[in-house]
Amino acid sequence: MSFTLAIVGRPNVGKSTLFNRLVGRRLALVDDQPGVTRDLREGEAKLGDLKFTVIDSAGLEEATDDSLQGRMRRLTEHAVEMADVCLFLVDARAGVTPTDEVFAEILRKKNANVILAANKAEGNAADAGVIDAWGLGLGEPIRLSAEHGEGLNDLYEHLRPLS
Ligand code: GDP
Ligand code: MG
Repeated sequence: MSFTLAIVGRPNVGKSTLFNRLVGRRLALVDDQPGVTRDLREGEAKLGDLKFTVIDSAGLEEATDDSLQGRMRRLTEHAVEMADVCLFLVDARAGVTPTDEVFAEILRKKNANVILAANKAEGNAADAGVIDAWGLGLGEPIRLSAEHGEGLNDLYEHLRPLS
């Protein structure tokens, strides 16, 4: 049985970097339907022996400050509804921001099945941010570096029970 993973989180935390790493060249489709699905990128991911569908909320990059709250809420809610599990990324170098708290609240309200990950966690500069992420109340954050491919074993261990 396969499952669908949605990568969620505020802009610039590294969602698309992780999506690209998980999908490699196996990008299945870029949805050009109108509305919110246009901004969700879907691909076939591979991680070790796991194969699953991954969703990236790709539309958040261009959101202006004014439109960000509403758009990211709709996009994230939509992604949560499509997914069996959400990988909630925060930026370990930036620490937890008020916008991260908004996302945490959306995920709680939707009763989403959440795996928390502190991305950009390569090196010591990220230690404080990883500890900060515990404060979201979503359990132990996975230390991840999407750019350097670190922490993928931990991610694998969290996803394996779903397959
Ligand atoms: P998104 O807006 O959440 O999709 O974030 P992106 O994937 O576009 O990444 C935003 C920025 O963070 C880019 O400059 C990436 O190169 C950088 N980035 C992503 N992952 C990492 C990481 O693991 N470590 C560091 N240091 N930078 C990263
Ligand atoms: Mg992106």
